[in-house]
Amino acid sequence: MSGSLREHGRRRGLALVLALLLAAGLTTAVGTVRAQPAGPAARYVVLISFDGLRADALQSVWPAALRQQGAVSWTARTVLPSTTIPAHTSMVTGRDVAGHDVRFDDWDPEMDRLALPSIFTRVRGAGGGVVVLITKPKLRFLVPLEMPVEWLPFPRYRQAAVIATIAERFRRTRPALLFAHVADPDTSGHLSGWMSPAYLRDVQEIPGLIEGLLGQIRAAGAWDETLVVVTADHGGHGRVHGTARPEDVTIPWIALGGAARAGVTLVEPIRIYDTAPTVLWALGIPIPPQWQGRPVLGALAPAAPARR
Ligand SMILES: [Zn+2]
Repeated sequence: MSGSLREHGRRRGLALVLALLLAAGLTTAVGTVRAQPAGPAARYVVLISFDGLRADALQSVWPAALRQQGAVSWTARTVLPSTTIPAHTSMVTGRDVAGHDVRFDDWDPEMDRLALPSIFTRVRGAGGGVVVLITKPKLRFLVPLEMPVEWLPFPRYRQAAVIATIAERFRRTRPALLFAHVADPDTSGHLSGWMSPAYLRDVQEIPGLIEGLLGQIRAAGAWDETLVVVTADHGGHGRVHGTARPEDVTIPWIALGGAARAGVTLVEPIRIYDTAPTVLWALGIPIPPQWQGRPVLGALAPAAPARR
């Protein structure tokens, strides 16, 4: 009896807090604890992480045609250490490193997998299909054991083959969330140096691959309902990364597709752990209140309640 009364009081308290937030116009804060009132921006999210892709390198080759099709940030930041597993953990869990405490960058299948809620568990929990394509086996860490992961081994799967696989899986299974990891820039960086001719050759190829993928999404009739996010886990300098240097921590963060706001350069501070809440927000899935990241609302097309 007293328990239910206490529960009732707690609910009334929560309702009051939400009403006050609404009255204050804090729709962003409300959105982090409740489903978005205007309805999802997208039915499909494609998230592509180019390992080791520096923002300045991609910016130098990003064409006007792609700038007009989306929202870009060349000043987004990853976490410390600026290494693959900690950064991807932040990308998919919405948490800074202090919030997930994953600091190692080597993983083998005997080790535990990430146990925190992530975009993978949340989208699947909401009933959405999830496809995960990885080019380095250690990224299996991010995905619960019971969820399927497709390993496309690098270098058999260089970036063009990964993008072609994304397009094929999108057409065939149309998952709510398709995550793909691309190994090329990081590999060239470690072998030849970040910003070396070999590294820049990889980077120069990326815009054309993305344009081709967007064309396939259009051809599939899914443009209006799709958000494509192109980003990276970290940059690099010399033949290494992992430090707090701007070359290591500055990453591109780009939203494309019909669910993205077209033709804008984002100047707001974006952190890699804003990616996960942006994915959930776009799909209309509530964002766990423990997440430190916030959805990058400036990257999304204005709410279109009639869209679905
Ligand atoms: Zn690396």
